[in-house]
Amino acid sequence: MEEALRATVRRFVEQELRPHVNDWEEAGTFPRALYRQAGELGLLAFGFPEAEGGIPASYRQLQALNEELCRAGCGGLLASLFSHRIGAPPIVHGGSAQLRARVLPGILSGEHISALAVSEPGGGSDVANLATSAVRDGDHYIVNGSKTFITSGMRADWLTVAVRTGGAGASGISALLVSGDTPGLTRSPLKKMGWWCSDTAELHFDQCRVPAANLLGAENTGFALLMRNFNDERLMLAMHACYLAQACLDEAVEWARQRKTFGRALVQHQAVRHKLVDMATRIEATRAFIDSVVARMDTGAQDVAQVCMLKNFAAQTMQACSGEAVQILGGMGFMRGTVAERVYRDAKVYMIGGGAEEILNDLAARQLGWG
Ligand SMILES: Cc1cc2nc3c(=O)[nH]c(=O)nc-3n(C[C@H](O)[C@H](O)[C@H](O)COP(=O)(O)OP(=O)(O)OC[C@H]3O[C@@H](n4cnc5c(N)ncnc54)[C@H](O)[C@@H]3O)c2cc1C
Repeated sequence: MEEALRATVRRFVEQELRPHVNDWEEAGTFPRALYRQAGELGLLAFGFPEAEGGIPASYRQLQALNEELCRAGCGGLLASLFSHRIGAPPIVHGGSAQLRARVLPGILSGEHISALAVSEPGGGSDVANLATSAVRDGDHYIVNGSKTFITSGMRADWLTVAVRTGGAGASGISALLVSGDTPGLTRSPLKKMGWWCSDTAELHFDQCRVPAANLLGAENTGFALLMRNFNDERLMLAMHACYLAQACLDEAVEWARQRKTFGRALVQHQAVRHKLVDMATRIEATRAFIDSVVARMDTGAQDVAQVCMLKNFAAQTMQACSGEAVQILGGMGFMRGTVAERVYRDAKVYMIGGGAEEILNDLAARQLGWG
């Protein structure tokens, strides 16, 4: 199955993604039709339960999917095209049977776009203290507040929103599914350092009436639902960081073989080929770390501390390798349109999104009983 999956994804990447990513990055968006195309190939359904129209997959198989997708060399595209990977799991784990049947088939087929809205203008790291409120009013909740940096925030048809339904702290948080056409919801696009073709938005909820039936899980139990989500998100981000670093290495090797200086190919200069080996070493180490975490998670372990450490390690690999790739490409590495240039400016978000480096180090330490 893994080889067939890889072949399908590789064809999709070569034919439908790679030729267009530069144009999409420059345009700051990509066609909505791409969700349908990915849906038709089963790529959006992969890893979701069969009962919801999904195609069950192990972490190992998801790893293969992500490795192939990263050959497109465009993290922003993957962030938005697959934003349902963070938006939809709380629906799977917390939605009623009726809600799941109504919402998930459209998301997994690419007809509808799903996003996760946790971070707020007042703070993203301190999830337990989020402020967006949802107050029960008959068979609805009235939602007020703002969310920011939300991937697929402009286009999402379904927003999985973290809200405060109870008192202070983690035990007052719920997850609520909000339809994109809810009156009172307004959205504004955000301009970014990287991930240009990814849709990133600020959302404002002004007296939004959301059916109480859209509550995901029991009231005030949303924090656990979100934490479970974060672990998978961080593993996915780590995979993307590692395999995008590989895309930089591939481009740098190709360049170093072609480009001649002082009568020799760059790769013949010891200082350059040592850089390539250093990049390959970091990537090998990150791959091995991913393999070991994936193997344990496929046995049912959550591996929270290891996932935090892996995400940080992989993001550093991405930053180091993209920086060296830019250096090897020289002036060309500073030009828009190379993989190295794109990944270099994207690298920082992998150190911030899905839990910033400092927060993950702290979480790992606590998980390991060190404070
Ligand atoms: C492109 C992009 C896409 C995103 N997509 C989404 C999305 O789809 N959904 C969503 O909900 N969020 C999304 N985010 C938000 C992201 O998860 C947050 O940016 C992240 O969690 C950090 O929150 P913050 O930006 O508010 O930083 P803050 O929480 O203000 O932190 C700022 C800095 O201080 C550090 N810091 C904070 N507290 C401590 C502490 N106690 N000890 C040490 N250091 C600390 C942090 O590590 C960070 O370096 C996205 C962000 C970006 C940039």
